[in-house]
Amino acid sequence: MEKWVVANWKMSGSKNLLDEYKKTFQNPKKLIVCPPSVYLNETTEFILGAQNIYHHPKGAYTGEISALMLNDIGIKYCIVGHSERRQYFEETNDMVLAKAEVCLKSSITPIICVGETFEQYQAGKTIEILSQQLRECLPNEGNFWVAYEPVWAIGTGCTPTTTEISTAHTFLREKLPEITLLYGGSVNESNAGAIFAIANVDGALVGGASLDIDKIHLIYQIAMTIKN
Ligand code: PEP
Repeated sequence: MEKWVVANWKMSGSKNLLDEYKKTFQNPKKLIVCPPSVYLNETTEFILGAQNIYHHPKGAYTGEISALMLNDIGIKYCIVGHSERRQYFEETNDMVLAKAEVCLKSSITPIICVGETFEQYQAGKTIEILSQQLRECLPNEGNFWVAYEPVWAIGTGCTPTTTEISTAHTFLREKLPEITLLYGGSVNESNAGAIFAIANVDGALVGGASLDIDKIHLIYQIAMTIKN
């Protein structure tokens, strides 16, 4: 089955890049593009998603954006708990859960990021950490997605082996039989085929490579050819 591609531009990209996406992707079935929020109100043939949301539904929180507002402009997906948010903005598992819950209340599918640090990976604690994050970050019910993003693989050019990704995703699938599961961390046009081919990987969250239109186009084309 074709795989999902979720492009996370982080605090990069431009109107020009959005125009390149518009020219390149006509009615793509499984592409979600998450640009900085100033670009979310654009008309596109692909799905737009947000990179973050505030964990309170409304109020005096200058500079923040609510799930209700995203819903108001037709946004249906939002990344929550990205490791950069956890690292630079001190987001805790409690906050990630609250963000996921405000998304669900506004009919937005949260894409909840989980994953171990390098120290935890080296100590063989990946499954233990995932287990804890699932317990503490996931709503009891609702239509959410989960992205397995080893912190040490994000933006580094390093990835776990396909066996390691498979072990993590098999664990996640056992716990979450009905949930869309993405892998994220240094996915590029060279490794996408091998990663998409892993059982229980329903797609990829792509950061750096999504800023290059040729690379993301290739990754998307690969995602559309996968059969498992
Ligand atoms: C990400 O931002 O979620 C990500 C996986 O980044 P990169 O592809 O650059 O590792």
